[in-house]
Amino acid sequence: MSGYFLPHVERMAGYVPGEQPQRGGFIKLNTNENPYPPSPSALEAIRGAVGDRLRLYPDPVGAAFRVAAARLHDVEPDMILAGNGSDDLLTIITRAFAGPGDAVLCPTPSYILYRTLVELQDARQVAVEYSPDWNLDPAVFANSGAKLAFLANPNSPSGTALTTEDVGALAEQFAGPFVVDEAYADFAAEHCVRLVATHPNVIVTRSFSKGYSLAGLRLGYLIARPDVVAGLIKVKDSYNCDTLSLVGGAAALDDTGYLAQTRGKVLATRQRLTAAVRALGYQVPDSQANFVWCTGGPPAAEIYERLKEQKILVRLMRYPGYPDGLRITVGTDDEIDQLLVALRGLVS
Ligand SMILES: *Cc1c(COP(=O)(O)O)cnc(C)c1O
Repeated sequence: MSGYFLPHVERMAGYVPGEQPQRGGFIKLNTNENPYPPSPSALEAIRGAVGDRLRLYPDPVGAAFRVAAARLHDVEPDMILAGNGSDDLLTIITRAFAGPGDAVLCPTPSYILYRTLVELQDARQVAVEYSPDWNLDPAVFANSGAKLAFLANPNSPSGTALTTEDVGALAEQFAGPFVVDEAYADFAAEHCVRLVATHPNVIVTRSFSKGYSLAGLRLGYLIARPDVVAGLIKVKDSYNCDTLSLVGGAAALDDTGYLAQTRGKVLATRQRLTAAVRALGYQVPDSQANFVWCTGGPPAAEIYERLKEQKILVRLMRYPGYPDGLRITVGTDDEIDQLLVALRGLVS
């Protein structure tokens, strides 16, 4: 059958998500899930929606969800678009703005999915290198000829973030939709939602998978100008979000106290983890996300394997031209203690 695929699909490697072991009692520090349970009120809202109403299609645009997100960000509901995870929104955006042969700017090293989305469109990924101190040169974004730009901020795998002011400066240089992927914004010092008011090309995407402990629900949303949202609605699947996720997501957004509580715990553990891996000799940028990026230790592939043997999963990440590294999710204090015991045994 392989000869039937479109040539550009045939050429693609496809995105490989982090391992999701379905058994075996792993300490799972590889895909940046939140170690704490979802908001109890979100779970209650989901349970309350299980029943006869599942007979009906969901609201195509999730009107009630949009109101909840708009309230949180102090924008209008028509500036919100929900997606089946923020990955769905990134897909919709790429399909809407990039066609065959078009250039798409993607800082590197960063989220690897962008490349797959660009390749699916038979478009061209143009890599923009981060400087050694994890900054980006605004001049690269000017006159680039690219049709679309992605910026993960905070970035993965580095965990670093550009300031809102710096992101605004990049967006200003760029003549096209400028996506700020804020999957990790819930753990960061600041975020870029306010840029949507000043920079009409900015699209901010958010996820429930990291800060809200709802990776299994599959929900995300974006914030953009109403005309951008209206255009993207034409591209999305009619019912891209299900009834349960829209209801649960709205309740999770409303439970701001719970988010603050779990966020506080993750940030405290992040600080402890950062200090401990640095003490082992790793180079670790200050993280604004729920993971730390460790390079400069013993061969990362070997450490990854040895940890896996001890039922601890971290993410081994390899970017051409960069040293291999380990991206370690901030787990519970107990999980991180076990990781550190294992790591000390392997590294020293
Ligand atoms: C996890 C992640 C996403 C995907 O989030 P979902 O809402 O689970 O689809 C998007 N961007 C980055 C940078 C991520 O790390």
